[in-house]
Amino acid sequence: MDNRTEQLADGVWRIEVGFAINAYLLANDGQGDAEGLTLVDTGTTTSGPRLVRSIRMLDLAPRAVGDILLSHWHPDHSGSAARFVRSEAAPLVHAGQADLPAVRGDDPRPQRRAAAGDVSRLGRLLAGRLRPGPAVSGATGLVDGATLPVAGGLRVVAAPGHTGGSLAFHLPQRGVLLAGDAALNVLWLSRGPGPIRSARRQEAATLRRLAALDFHILGLGHGPVVAKRAQQRLAALADRAQRRGLG
Ligand SMILES: [Zn+2]
Repeated sequence: MDNRTEQLADGVWRIEVGFAINAYLLANDGQGDAEGLTLVDTGTTTSGPRLVRSIRMLDLAPRAVGDILLSHWHPDHSGSAARFVRSEAAPLVHAGQADLPAVRGDDPRPQRRAAAGDVSRLGRLLAGRLRPGPAVSGATGLVDGATLPVAGGLRVVAAPGHTGGSLAFHLPQRGVLLAGDAALNVLWLSRGPGPIRSARRQEAATLRRLAALDFHILGLGHGPVVAKRAQQRLAALADRAQRRGLG
């Protein structure tokens, strides 16, 4: 295991693929003996080689990656998905329904539409600039409540706010919640970076819903894993977000 890889539970690893950017590797059978692997997020367009190296250092085969689950379309998460699809592994890529047009390349400026009703000038400016990673035309949608035979059972949880189609992935058998950018843990545990004001209320409701799940390890898109009092801390963040969002 290299120093960018950290095991969170049986068959669950965090791989730091860039500065404070995470991807997660899941062994489908939970043991890590390459029955099949699933990636959650892929980092930026330049993260592919590092991701492949880290998988090899776990004595696992990158070609065993059969599925990629994207927490959302942003280029620091979807960036290397297309590269994996073109590799020998040729995995299937999945994302939330509302993020699919961006992932498939049908909507090159998805956030511009989302920001249309936003009152913040900065929000509109940022939204116009953010573009998805290289398109994955064959990506398919995942719906809330879907379960996948990964690491003892993976449950898809809709987590709209940061983007309309943001997803979280719950591994109840492992006590792990992978929540994408629903929250950040770069300097401390905080709300995700969302320039779209109209999504703030949705974001707060998502935090509330995620905090009600049963987990003790919280893995996010950015920053270290939260392994102490993770559920309580996410619940406290949801409280603060709700007070600000509705107050
Ligand atoms: Zn991100």
